Amino acid sequence: MKIPLLPTPRCPVHGSKLKRADCPTCNAAYGRLYQRHRRHAHPDVALVERAKHRAQTRNVPFRITRNDVVVPTTCPALGIPLIVGQKRAATSPSLDRIQPHLGYVPGNVRVLSDRANRLKGNQNLPQLRARAAAAKGKKREEYQRLARYVDRELILAEVRTKAAQGGRAGEVWAEVARFLDRAFIRADWSR
Ligand SMILES: [Zn+2]
Repeated sequence: MKIPLLPTPRCPVHGSKLKRADCPTCNAAYGRLYQRHRRHAHPDVALVERAKHRAQTRNVPFRITRNDVVVPTTCPALGIPLIVGQKRAATSPSLDRIQPHLGYVPGNVRVLSDRANRLKGNQNLPQLRARAAAAKGKKREEYQRLARYVDRELILAEVRTKAAQGGRAGEVWAEVARFLDRAFIRADWSR
């Protein structure tokens, strides 16, 4: 991933010649730049850290690492571009718990747009379908896309359950699960 040039951090007293050891403002300026750089360079790490914090405040399970998080270039639910490193916006990447109550565990997380994740909230598939039926225009289309996203992810979860049963059949199901997972990372199947 290309990392754009970042501005030099500045302190009103020391300018860009930071004296971090003895100036809190210098240190804070450096900290902000460092965090911004990390969001650019390692969006997966930033998403996992935010999820860990949210898991604690909402008391849901947390067992993921950055290896469970892939940031695609488009939102797999809404098909809009995902833009890394900007201030929070509709197109910011956001980590979704596919089934909210299961928490941040491997197989239950997917990177969506902030827009998709906010619309989805804590709703399950029947609730999303009801929302789609009640909504009009663009909102209706968005909820329909979200329902399709959850629908296909639930199928993948079922395939993973079959894979976990082991044996030769389990190996075949595991292969199907890997294939679907790769497809679903960036799938915008709604068109
Ligand atoms: Zn300073």
